[in-house]
Amino acid sequence: MDHHLNPIPRLFFLNSAENTFRKCIACERDLYLGDCDYVIEKAIRRFPEIDASEVIFEYAICTDCAGKARQKLSEESRQRIDELLHSEKVKENSLSILAQATLQNGDATGICMLTGNAIDDCEEYQIYAYCRGTSLSLNSNAFMLSGKAMEIIAELLSEETKDELDRFRDTFFGLPPELEDIINSRDLIML
Ligand SMILES: [Zn+2]
Repeated sequence: MDHHLNPIPRLFFLNSAENTFRKCIACERDLYLGDCDYVIEKAIRRFPEIDASEVIFEYAICTDCAGKARQKLSEESRQRIDELLHSEKVKENSLSILAQATLQNGDATGICMLTGNAIDDCEEYQIYAYCRGTSLSLNSNAFMLSGKAMEIIAELLSEETKDELDRFRDTFFGLPPELEDIINSRDLIML
């Protein structure tokens, strides 16, 4: 059994920093202590014509807080997301995703888990990594969902769940109203 821990891929580092998030966005616990798993979620928009990209939002949340937040989503929405993530389409992509992860120390962000599209073909995408301390969690791979995949998932969400995600966004991002369209709460899926 191989207990080698993969480092967190650079794509998850904070802009122009040599490290990742140190605090849970909700309970502010110190994630570097390594006493809990946490998820880093980051949404990126690319501008291929000018070879640039911008971070739309990024945060880390410990699995305790993510679990609590997820409990607030409607049962129906949670079920639909689960079904989608266990669908044939995702299974079909899983071989190429696993192959990539094996070659790249657990970094499978190059291919959308749901649509199979390459990251270079996505104008918008979100990346996820389950981490512990300063490494990826044991046996977990960083993965990517394209903008198209986020649209597919958003269509599955109930009104109740969309309201709950709005509350999450308002609580933790505290955005002025004119910026609300930039961080679309439906993009915060909390897988
Ligand atoms: Zn927390």
